[in-house]
Amino acid sequence: MNFINIISIKKNIFGLILLLGSLSADAQNFQISSPDGNLKVKLTLDNGKLFYRVLLGEREMLKQSPLGLRGNGVDLTSALISKENRTQLIDETYRETKIKKSTIRYLANELVCSFENAKKNILEVTFRVSNNDIAFRYRIPQTGELANLTIEDEISGFHFPVGTTTFLTPQATPMIGWMKTKPSYEEEYVVDAPMDQPSKYGVGYTFPALFHVGESGWILLSETGVNGEYCGSKLSEPLPDGNYKIAFPEAGENNGIGSANPTIALPGYTPWRTITVGASLKPIVETTIAFDLVKPQYQTATDYTFGRSTWSWLLWQDESINFADQKRFIDLSASLGYESVLIDNWWDTKIGHEKMEQLAAYAKKKNVALALWYNSNGFWNNAPQGPKNKMNTGVARKAEMAWMQKIGVKGIKVDFFGGDKQETIKLYEEILSDANTYGLTVIFHGCTLPRGWERMYPNFASSEAVLASENLIFTQIANDNEAFNATLHPFIRNAVGAMDFGPVLLNEKHNRENNGGKIRKTTETFQIATAVLFQSPIQNFGITPNNLTEVPVHLINFMKKVPTLWDETVLIDGYPGRYCVLARRHKDQWFITAVNAEKKAKIITIPLQMLRGNELTVYTDRDDRSPNVDNVKIGQSKQIKIRLLPGGGAVIVAK
Ligand code: CA
Repeated sequence: MNFINIISIKKNIFGLILLLGSLSADAQNFQISSPDGNLKVKLTLDNGKLFYRVLLGEREMLKQSPLGLRGNGVDLTSALISKENRTQLIDETYRETKIKKSTIRYLANELVCSFENAKKNILEVTFRVSNNDIAFRYRIPQTGELANLTIEDEISGFHFPVGTTTFLTPQATPMIGWMKTKPSYEEEYVVDAPMDQPSKYGVGYTFPALFHVGESGWILLSETGVNGEYCGSKLSEPLPDGNYKIAFPEAGENNGIGSANPTIALPGYTPWRTITVGASLKPIVETTIAFDLVKPQYQTATDYTFGRSTWSWLLWQDESINFADQKRFIDLSASLGYESVLIDNWWDTKIGHEKMEQLAAYAKKKNVALALWYNSNGFWNNAPQGPKNKMNTGVARKAEMAWMQKIGVKGIKVDFFGGDKQETIKLYEEILSDANTYGLTVIFHGCTLPRGWERMYPNFASSEAVLASENLIFTQIANDNEAFNATLHPFIRNAVGAMDFGPVLLNEKHNRENNGGKIRKTTETFQIATAVLFQSPIQNFGITPNNLTEVPVHLINFMKKVPTLWDETVLIDGYPGRYCVLARRHKDQWFITAVNAEKKAKIITIPLQMLRGNELTVYTDRDDRSPNVDNVKIGQSKQIKIRLLPGGGAVIVAK
């Protein structure tokens, strides 16, 4: 993959940024606006305390919210005086093939202002405001002998107007769940909830966090640019009067090992806090802010391949981790024209390293790449699956990766991480960095949210960090709620990072023989729609060998040609928890996907002005829920009406 970075930072000579007030001792207010002038951040220094507000047009989206941080012996939350400030226009175009859009122009106004406390410690605050995104971070310079700072509290807050409702998923308390593997960002969402409702576990919410600010619009909060030099942060429990703040991991995470508080070397930065703001949901789904603000952490000489994969473990579970079944799945990938196959847990004992070399040779002959599963442990939870102790130290990791490179393995999936502490984020980064040395792509499971990682790490592919398709095998309730959950992800989890959900399960019953186990409640067309709805540069699909002969051939033909890399993403319609209609473009071909979680059938009208040709292939559900396909010519109206069944879907592919 190539990074084409065309970076140009221009001085702000056109007065795009309006500063209110002077810079004298009584200067209290600063304002910075988006390039189109519609999104505004107003900063106020009031009695030595710093606040910001957010306006979209004339509508107040965030009320006066605090800024600042406190570290060991350093208080940068009060008694601040304004020192200096500067502004510039950021105009940067970059290319990133692994996200929702391939060429991105990031245009933002930047304001950097610095403040000093009585002890002469400096807080430098940077705000960047693009047309629908705000980002801010702090820089702490080195002062005197102070060369590092443990951040005890970042008071950055988000004060929502009265009546705002929330679409949030709770952070889990440490060391709970299966084999004490939580938190792993695998909790249920609660939608359209009032702000004063405490979270399920009482330890805040994971990013990203979606808020419906009544008639005014929507806000998506998240963070980006988190590397091994910081922890993953979260959103606090609701504070009184519609307030939330940044919070750090719990002390008990990672089996209690490592500090809950981040420590930075000075001069140093905190990660970017991001606020995506829209009058509608369109800017939320289409935002690229998680990637706009970050830089590749290393360059790469490897031309990584991302694409489609089959994966025996999802439907056939642990019993399929054997030589014969894995050969069948290599054959399945080959017959679908897929790029890879994923071999999941226990392969070290059930197949073994030696036989794996034979499998790798077989896969190579079939032109299918192998990806192998690893346990991240270590000693941060009790997950028993092997291979273990191969990814947690540099010595073991490099030896294992050198072996993988030798036999032609192209990717790894590493599972069961210990939480969000700086200690754990450092492990993620070290795995990515070593994997790059050995030409391996990386997927994380049982893990945290990726925070800008697609652009920061060229070999990073995807992370789970969602209640993924494995739950469709484990519980009936996951099947009953499948459509509901699917309509959330484009607006929330998948809006800020690749999501390895493992979609498209064409069996009606979720076991190996397709005759027992949990029952799928959504339609086959819904299933193929999720291949486009969910974005991940590597997709581990739930297709099994029997599907090739048991489901209508048009579904398999669709799955043979569906891409995983997108040049453009456009939200057409939807509401989180109810339905979603979105369009993605791969080269010059558009794929429009729709899913419905409502209890009744729904007629949707899809505008097609973006299409050049007038011939479409339209995949829909028949009234009896069976899958249908039609070739359709678009009329003068340049639109199409589609009927979506409850738990149904549609895909439109433009010629
Ligand atoms: Ca999982």
